[in-house]
Amino acid sequence: MKTIGLIGGMSWESTVIYYQLLNRMAREALGGLHSAQILIWSFDFGEIETLQAAGDWEQATEKMTEAARNIEKGGADCVLICTNTMHKMAEEVQSAVHIPLIHIADTTALALKKAQVQHPLLLATRYTMEQDFYKGRLNERHGITARIPDDAGRTLVHDVIYDELCQGVISPTSKAGYLEVVDRGQKSGADSVIFGCTEVGLLVSADDFEIPAFDTTALHARAAMDFALS
Ligand code: GLU
Repeated sequence: MKTIGLIGGMSWESTVIYYQLLNRMAREALGGLHSAQILIWSFDFGEIETLQAAGDWEQATEKMTEAARNIEKGGADCVLICTNTMHKMAEEVQSAVHIPLIHIADTTALALKKAQVQHPLLLATRYTMEQDFYKGRLNERHGITARIPDDAGRTLVHDVIYDELCQGVISPTSKAGYLEVVDRGQKSGADSVIFGCTEVGLLVSADDFEIPAFDTTALHARAAMDFALS
């Protein structure tokens, strides 16, 4: 089995999910006491969030590339950035190492294509929803046109991620807010939902929606385990 490198801690609330999913997938595939071989670089998210909020993407990129190099030095065979947002610097991270970066938007796009949906509503941080690095990749590489919530919806989705989910707070009121955002998105033509933040699956699940939902955390972990077992 190959060793999976995780750049995590963004937040650790979702890195825990990656760790659990990967180990369960290894047990399912190999049985008995088998578990995944994993190297985790876990950031202090307080420091990362400060850089994000200040728009200091340059320093954030340095931190991500350094983490990837450390993971490669440690012997990992691939690297995953365990947050959609920090795929903003995915190309720089890939260029910094020789091992492959498994890109969360690509693994998500493959699942969307398989389900034959093309207009997903993207629930994510403001950076991921409003900037082009994620939607652009979905569109240019995969022909998928992601939609984003309206202004009020984006504020709600973003604030719940940072103020609650990344701090381990799960609120029924926020869940109801997310369901309303998706309902509005569906009425304006979205045919599916992307949980485009690795913590969103802590709040809502595919069963909450009439349209198909795609959890980037689970899809990303699946792609990593497929790679590890190949
Ligand atoms: N984990 C989240 C994501 O997937 C948000 C935290 C971050 O900004 O990295 O985007």
